[in-house]
Parts: sequence; structure tokens; C-alpha cells
Amino acid sequence: MRRIYLDYAATTPTHPDVVKAMLPYFTEVFGNPSTIYSCGQEAKGAIGEARVKVADLIGARDEEIVFTSGGTEADNFALKGAAFANENKGNHIITSSIEHHAVMETCKFLEGRGFSVTYLPVDAYGLIDPDDVRKAITDKTTVISVMHANNEIGTIEPLAEIGKIAREAGIHFHTDAVQTVGHIPVDVNDLGVDLLSMSAHKLYGPKGIGALYIRKGTRLVSFMHGGEQERRRRASTENTPGIIGFGQAVDLAQQEMVEEEKRLTYLRDKLIKGIMEQIENTRLNGHPSKRLPGNVNVCIDFVEGESICLNLDLESICASTGSACSSTSLEPSHVLLAIGLPPEQVHGSLRLTLGKWTAEEEIEQVLGSLPRIVAKLRAMSPLLKSQK
Ligand code: PLP
Repeated sequence: MRRIYLDYAATTPTHPDVVKAMLPYFTEVFGNPSTIYSCGQEAKGAIGEARVKVADLIGARDEEIVFTSGGTEADNFALKGAAFANENKGNHIITSSIEHHAVMETCKFLEGRGFSVTYLPVDAYGLIDPDDVRKAITDKTTVISVMHANNEIGTIEPLAEIGKIAREAGIHFHTDAVQTVGHIPVDVNDLGVDLLSMSAHKLYGPKGIGALYIRKGTRLVSFMHGGEQERRRRASTENTPGIIGFGQAVDLAQQEMVEEEKRLTYLRDKLIKGIMEQIENTRLNGHPSKRLPGNVNVCIDFVEGESICLNLDLESICASTGSACSSTSLEPSHVLLAIGLPPEQVHGSLRLTLGKWTAEEEIEQVLGSLPRIVAKLRAMSPLLKSQK
């Protein structure tokens, strides 16, 4: 049975062109980019080219890009770096209640170090009200961090409006754009951000490489001390193959993003419509249109999301209940709780995320399997029986 992969928000397969571009940097151009001989200098030059590509994709300058080990490190660097660099000005951070764990846990860490954090609520679609950001600002606020699009429900946040508020108040504005870079247009000046996190493995690049955009003039405290790499902002020998792969993935995104956004939006809406029409007592989570092109997230009443995923897996369909980071925990999703769903409904959540190799026949196949699986599970469900 051919596998149908519908968990592109968790990670994407590395594109064959990306793998091809990376290979010489493992075996031939393997020199340390800090060395002066040619195989090191060649690697250094290629890193420079990849940096320009990543910068161009988000409307930044190449010197504003710092490569990291992924989105988590970029989020940690942005929040801790900005919070500690501005400690003399204040100790208040504003974020949302639906951020990825990489931001949430970093905020919790900072709370333990004397910072206070406001977690803004969201509406039923997962949208943050920019007015709430304005009202939460105090004379002690030094950092605002709001994600560009949510990894579970796909809602795209009104960042440009929040960026304007942050700019007027002179507060550093960070966004976790791990789910949007390479998928929808991202421009650091249009969004008004000072710091922006990215991760290559969400856009057909390799795992273990990401970047933080740091607007020129933004002071951050570094937490990787050692050599002078990345203009002394992040020590450690560069992950040359990873960086080259990231650059190649960005090239592909530049070529394909516009068409791919249209194609995935069509498939996404077909899948949502099919689920809603064929399965009773189902709810779409997230905003119907301000939403990532490949994201479908639904709550299916009277069944457990985990049971649906396991049954889909038996039919070679890969799906998840929420974010990859929480899929092994039985804690209900903080994102779905934040949009106001009761815990029993949260447990019936299913996330299907589409990508480059998702074909229309696959969507049709899922629409054939899912109603049957749900009907089977509901027939055995104590949750449904207790409702009758
Ligand atoms: N932020 C968001 C919104 C994500 O979806 C993810 C990955 O799931 C991360 C951060 C973490 O990125 P990485 O896996 O590169 O550390």
C-alpha cells in the first residue's frame, strides 16, 4: 500500500534536489569554513550564498541572518537574547496563549528568572486582537512575541498591525514564522518584525538547521559562547551541508510558492468540505480563510484523535492529533483549549497537513477512509453511548 503522508506541518521530506545540493559538502567541500585553505574557503563562500538566499526570501539583508540548529534554537535565542539584553529597561514580555512549546517553555524559563509574561487570549478562530497587545504594554515591556501562523490550527495572525504597535512603543517584536516561511509571502519590513525564527525542515530542507533574522541594530545576548562564527552571535562550526540544503530549499520555494499556495488551498478546502459533509458532529478548528494553505484541523465528536490516527496508520495514512511535539503526550492541546473548546472535544482533534507531494487522488482516498473509520470507532464509543 502506498503511504499517504499528511503531516507536512510536523516535518517535510527533504527534497531530492536539496539532498543533491548537500552531498558534496559532506565529502568534497568538507573544510572548516574558518580555515584559510581553499576547501574551507569554498565552504565559506557557499554559506555566504545560502545566507543571501535566505535573506532575500524574507526581504532581509544577509548580515541580518544567523544560522541556528532549528526553529527551537531561533526562538530561544530571540526571547532570551532580547529579554536579557534589555534587562536594565524592564522585565515584561508579551506573547500569546497559542505559541509553540519552543516559545512557551522559553517564556516559562524566563518567568523563573524574574521576568513576568502576559499570555494574551485568542478568539474562537485563534486570532489575537492587536488591541489586546496595545493594552498589555507597560513601561516595563521589552519584548513582544507572536507567531506568524499557528502550527496546529493554521490561523495566520495580524502581524503587520501588531508590528506597528510594537514599533510605536519602541518594543522588540519577535515572530515564530517556522510554519510560514517558504509557504506564504513573508517580508520582515511589511510585518514590522525585529526578530524572526525559521526552520529548514518545514520547507523541504534538512532537519537540524534554521535561522534567526535579527534586524540591524537589535541587541541580543548570545548564549552559544566559543568561536567567532556568525559574527560572534552564535559560536560553533557551521553546519555547512545543512546551510547549503536550506539555501536550496529556499530556491525551490521561490520558484514554486505562488502556484503551490493555490494548489494546496484548493486541496485543503476540498478535504475540509468532504469531512464536514460526510461526518456528522465535526467542527473546523482555526480560521476558515486566514489559514495556512495546507492546514486542516477538525474536532470529531465522540472519538479519540489518537484512535483515528492509529486506524489511519493501518491504511498507510500518516496524520496527527496536534503538534508533533505534543503527539506523544496525553495533555489536551493548549491551542485548542485557548480557542475555547472543552477538553472532551479537544481529545477528538485531528490534524491533516498537506504539502508538495499531496495529490488530489490521495485527498479522495482519505475522504473514503476517514468516514468509515469514524463510524467504526463511534459504534464502539462509550463517549457516544453516554450521550444517548
Ligand atoms: N515553532 C513552530 C511554530 C513549529 O511548528 C516548530 C516545529 O514543529 C518549531 C517552532 C520548532 O522547530 P524545530 O523543529 O526546527 O526546532
